[in-house]
Amino acid sequence: MNRGGDTDSMDKQRTLKEATSCVGIGLHSGRKVSLALRPAPADTGIVFCRLDENHLRIPATVEYLSHINHATCLARDGVRIETVEHLLAALCALGIDNVFIDLDGPEVPIMDGSAAPFIYLIHEAGIRHLPAARTVIKLTSPLTVSHEGRFVAAYPSDTLRLSYTINFNHPLLRHQEYSTEIDEANFIDEIAPARTFGFLKDVEIMRQRGLALGGSLDNAVVLGETGVLNNPLRFPDEFVRHKVLDLLGDLVLLGKPIHAHVVAMRAGHELHTQLVQSILDSKDSWELTTVPETAPAAAEVAEPVFARTAR
Ligand SMILES: [Zn+2]
Repeated sequence: MNRGGDTDSMDKQRTLKEATSCVGIGLHSGRKVSLALRPAPADTGIVFCRLDENHLRIPATVEYLSHINHATCLARDGVRIETVEHLLAALCALGIDNVFIDLDGPEVPIMDGSAAPFIYLIHEAGIRHLPAARTVIKLTSPLTVSHEGRFVAAYPSDTLRLSYTINFNHPLLRHQEYSTEIDEANFIDEIAPARTFGFLKDVEIMRQRGLALGGSLDNAVVLGETGVLNNPLRFPDEFVRHKVLDLLGDLVLLGKPIHAHVVAMRAGHELHTQLVQSILDSKDSWELTTVPETAPAAAEVAEPVFARTAR
C-alpha cells in the first residue's frame, strides 16, 4: 500500500493505473449498483458516467449540483447521481485529479457508509502520475457562509486543513470537534473509516418518503434515544470525523484542489456546497498556483481561528 503522501510528486496530476470496480447498494433506492473507476487523461477532472443513460457524463463540479438529500446529489439533463461525497473525498485524499466513474444506476453505492472501501478500490487500481502540472486554488482572503448560527468559513493556508464542530441535542453528540491536516496518511487512518450516521427517529420519516430504503445497520451508525443501536463505534468521535469526510467530499466540487483552512460549525452539505459556490464566485479571494515540488513542513498544530470558534 502506498502510504505517507508521496509528497515529492504532488506537483503532477494523477490518475489510476488501471480500471477497477465493485458492486454495492444505493442508500436511498436499496437497489444494487455497479461502480467502476477508469483512468482519465490530464485535465479531465473527476467525471461521472451513467452507463444506463446513454453514457451521459456528469462532471463532479458545483455547476452540476442538483439538490441535497441527506447527501450531495449531482444532475445533468434530468439524470441524477446521488451520494457522491464519500467517493469524492477518497479520490481527493489520494490526490486523484482525473478519473471516470461509471455507474449503472442513480446512486454511488453506500458500501459500509464510510470512505474506507473506496480507498481500498483506488489502491487496488494503483496510482499513475501524469506529465501535466497540478494547479491548486490558493485562498488569499477569508470567506464565510452562514445560516442561523451554523457556518463554514475558509481562511488562507499553505495546506488543506479541515476543522469541524458538531453540537446535536443528543447525549452522545452534545459537542465534538476535530481538526486535521488532510494528507493521504491522515485521511486513511483518521477519517476514511468514519461512517455516516443517523437518528432512529428520522429513519422512519425518510422511509415514508421513499428514502434510505437501502439503509441498514451495516452501512450507518444509528442513534437511538440514549446511545448507538449497532456495532461499536470505530472512534469515540466517529460522528465529527464523518463530518470532516463529508466536507472534504463536497470541497471536491470546486473542480480543483484547494489550499485553505476550512472551519465548519454545525454545518452540513448545504453550507459546504454554498461555500464552494462562494469561493468560485469570489475570484478576488484566491489565485491559481502550481504545487511546489517540495511539500511544506507539517502545519502548525494549533490554529488560532479554530481555537476561537471552539469556545
Ligand atoms: Zn456522509
